[in-house]
Amino acid sequence: MRCKTAERYISLQQDNELNAKRNQALCRHLQNCASCTSIQSCNLALQTSLKELPQAEYPQWLHHRILDNLPRQKKQSWAGGRALSYATASLAIIFGLLAGTLVGIKGYEGDELATQNETEYSYISFGEQSLMEAYDD
Ligand SMILES: [Zn+2]
Repeated sequence: MRCKTAERYISLQQDNELNAKRNQALCRHLQNCASCTSIQSCNLALQTSLKELPQAEYPQWLHHRILDNLPRQKKQSWAGGRALSYATASLAIIFGLLAGTLVGIKGYEGDELATQNETEYSYISFGEQSLMEAYDD
């Protein structure tokens, strides 16, 4: 085992997160490595001194003050806003399809008129005096 691995295992051992197999490997390494043994004893000493620190008592108002100073979230959630925009987009698509269909129907009616009575239609499209009328004179 390398010393780097042993250091990692020492940390895991102190947090009670090292399995039995790795723990045995660490013990074997520590029997032959003075520097890792020293690291382990230093870590243990630090851990015990941290545990001996008195638990700080926080005033009652601190909790409320922190919560009051937290930034307020908007009422509408992100997901809600998304759902609304999807609904709007769907409506826009449906409206667009309907409008396109109506325009198509109107256009088709105009085409029918043009084939039925072509001359009349061209007078209509050029206003009161058509180009054809201008050439006739
Ligand atoms: Zn070592």
